[in-house]
Amino acid sequence: MSTPRRKVQWQHLDRDSMIAWQGRCLHRYLKDCVLPFSLQYQRVFKERGLTANDIQTVADLRKLPFTSKEDLLPTPENPRRTLDFVLKPDPKILSRRPSVILRALLHGREHVRAELDREWRPTFMTSTTGRSTEPVPFLYTQHDIAHLALGSGRIVEIGGVKPDERMVNMFPFAPHLAFWYMYYSGIDRNIFALATGGGKVMGTEGNLRAVLKLKPQVLVAMPTFLYHVLQQAVEQNLRLEGIRLLVLGGDKVPDGTRRKLGALCAQVGSPDVKIMATYGFTEAKFAWTECPITPGTPPPGYHLYADQGIIEIINPETGEVMPDGEGGEIVWTPLDQRGTVVLRYRTGDRCEHGITWEPCPCCGRRMPRLVGKISRVSDVHALRFQKIKGTIVDFNELERVLDDLPGLGAWQIELCKAHDDPLDLDEINVHITPTGEGNLTTIDHAVRAILHSHFELTPNQVVAHTAEEMRALQKVGVALKEQKVVDNRPKTNGSERGRERERADAVKTAAPAGAQP
Ligand SMILES: [Zn+2]
Repeated sequence: MSTPRRKVQWQHLDRDSMIAWQGRCLHRYLKDCVLPFSLQYQRVFKERGLTANDIQTVADLRKLPFTSKEDLLPTPENPRRTLDFVLKPDPKILSRRPSVILRALLHGREHVRAELDREWRPTFMTSTTGRSTEPVPFLYTQHDIAHLALGSGRIVEIGGVKPDERMVNMFPFAPHLAFWYMYYSGIDRNIFALATGGGKVMGTEGNLRAVLKLKPQVLVAMPTFLYHVLQQAVEQNLRLEGIRLLVLGGDKVPDGTRRKLGALCAQVGSPDVKIMATYGFTEAKFAWTECPITPGTPPPGYHLYADQGIIEIINPETGEVMPDGEGGEIVWTPLDQRGTVVLRYRTGDRCEHGITWEPCPCCGRRMPRLVGKISRVSDVHALRFQKIKGTIVDFNELERVLDDLPGLGAWQIELCKAHDDPLDLDEINVHITPTGEGNLTTIDHAVRAILHSHFELTPNQVVAHTAEEMRALQKVGVALKEQKVVDNRPKTNGSERGRERERADAVKTAAPAGAQP
């Protein structure tokens, strides 16, 4: 079997050649792997009177319906519904294939049986933590694990990480894509990498000690957690020299956060760090990265692996596919996966400017890139839109605005009720910690001003905290993901709001954001 990397010039083909190649791959993949062995897609194709022959090009994908999160959730009649999406090969069909017969003649039947077992039998899983109360498992075979390494190896390659460099991976240890994806990156590219397990496993202090000891050039982490680790290093007057690259994932990385992380690195003796933000999701079994850039420069977009899957951008209302350069919802179809397979999977994530095939302005690679801000559905949990004091507030946007506010370090928004009475008025408190150079009175005013002008919100209290108090408030080292928005409104028993809050709590304990790096 050729390794996936050699199948195609993944970073050099022009748009039309690549899309033509993807169409041929898609057809073969559906014909040989998905339709013979996927219960779910056998049903879907049959219902529409389609066969693999109807899908010969990328444009033909439009004949297929979308797969949504809801399709994967268990129902009372089918509690193990995700298993319908797992490819279960029929040994009789496989053994009649000429390629299999040929391999058996060359290497012996036992050898081929072992090979097919590795290719098709799931041995690994990660799961979603999204809005659904029940996590959705995604199964991997050895074939898919090789692809984890391939995809994350490309992140290391785009980051220009060299064999004599060291990485510290601070993603939280959990059966989530982020941790395992980056775990395999070092193994694939033969780079020394320590996976600390993040805050919950080692605390900020343990992660700091690991960085002090290993003197890594590359730090891999969720942005807010890394902020707390670096902030603590500043408080303790530690020197962390030689850091040159931050690989961030699991959450959005607004410009303000990039600036703050860059400034903190400079304070501990590592000026000129570059930052790479990644984007991925459980259902793709992949994450993609930007080129490394200096904080303050515009992000160049996420480099997609066109040889591994097709990303469509659709109009979320009509489902119509958008032309290059236009924003919409991100939809995923793999080209070479085993285990759990979803076709035309609607992520719910919105990308501001869609896909471009222009060469990357930073590295010149020719591959499609996702450009502009991405609003993740995993951020968009039960708290996405909340009516606070009669105003509908988009928390996704609220977080971005606060992250970008100069002088404001860490922060937390707290929703509560006056007198802790479920029937009383909504209250909103903002907890803040200024950055080193930030002045408390100025920040207090700035926070109030920006909340008022952008969201027509007047916070009841703006409360200043030390960095240490903020770490406790955000549950750094306790929760898997730092808590920047908390809903402390008391439940009204049996009411819709009470259920909303239960869902929000379930999401919080199940963090980090949808398991993406
Ligand atoms: Zn690039």
